[in-house]
Amino acid sequence: MVRVLTLASGKGGTGKTTVTINLGTCLAMFGKKTCIMDADIGMANLGLCLGLEDVPVTLHEVLSGKAAIRDAIYEGPGGLQVVPSGISLQGFQQSDPDRLRDVLKDLTTDLDFLLIDAPAGISRDGVVPLAVADDVILVVNPELSAIVDAMKTKILTEVVGGHVSGAIVNRATPDSGGTVSQKMEKVLGTRVMGMIPDDPNVRKAASAKTPVVIRYPASGSSVAFQKLAAGLAGITYDKKTMEQKDTFIDRFTRALFRGRK
Ligand code: ADP
Ligand code: MG
Repeated sequence: MVRVLTLASGKGGTGKTTVTINLGTCLAMFGKKTCIMDADIGMANLGLCLGLEDVPVTLHEVLSGKAAIRDAIYEGPGGLQVVPSGISLQGFQQSDPDRLRDVLKDLTTDLDFLLIDAPAGISRDGVVPLAVADDVILVVNPELSAIVDAMKTKILTEVVGGHVSGAIVNRATPDSGGTVSQKMEKVLGTRVMGMIPDDPNVRKAASAKTPVVIRYPASGSSVAFQKLAAGLAGITYDKKTMEQKDTFIDRFTRALFRGRK
């Protein structure tokens, strides 16, 4: 059965898209049928981060009733399925966020995981992803403004009948250790599922339109993403397993993306 996870934050720029792409890629590499969807229909950039910015059909066309969801699914790294959103303002204006519920019914029949990259803020298009998920995961940075906004998102999730099951602390620094995690748990009232370090390779990989877990698999953030994904997939993480996953296909994907500027 599919598990629908929505990555949400309140504040923009905390790393929702980065977390969605990298957790999704890891889950796909672990053999889980995984799809990631850009529900940030106003400020779409998930497709951009994967080199899917020029595709003919996106979630915009699906939410405006012009296309079926199956036509908006593209192949990403490691066999990951990707539903990008469009970047045109007109496409955004024509999209009806409420259609997402029906779209999900069609999409999720054959999946283990669907990861939804939610918009920041508390707009109408942001509410549906919070309500439809089995688990909402808050992506927070270790700073007060991000925590306060995440708290608002948690309250909003509960108001619309959703459920926050944990938080991921992204861009953690060496001093955001156990105490930060404990404080976060206390303030947010939810468990910290993992800490992703601030890692310059995340940006480098993004500008090469490749997930960091593919481009720099041994980097600090990649190891943290792999551990987190292993936890979600219910498998034991060990470095060897990941090395074995670095198959011909993955090397091929890396080589392919390396050529892109
Ligand atoms: P959001 O989707 O929440 O707006 P993004 O995933 O687009 O956030 O991330 C915002 C910026 O922060 C991007 O430039 C991204 O490359 C960078 N970033 C995200 N996570 C990390 C990290 N762990 N270390 C360093 N940079 C990061
Ligand atoms: Mg984003």
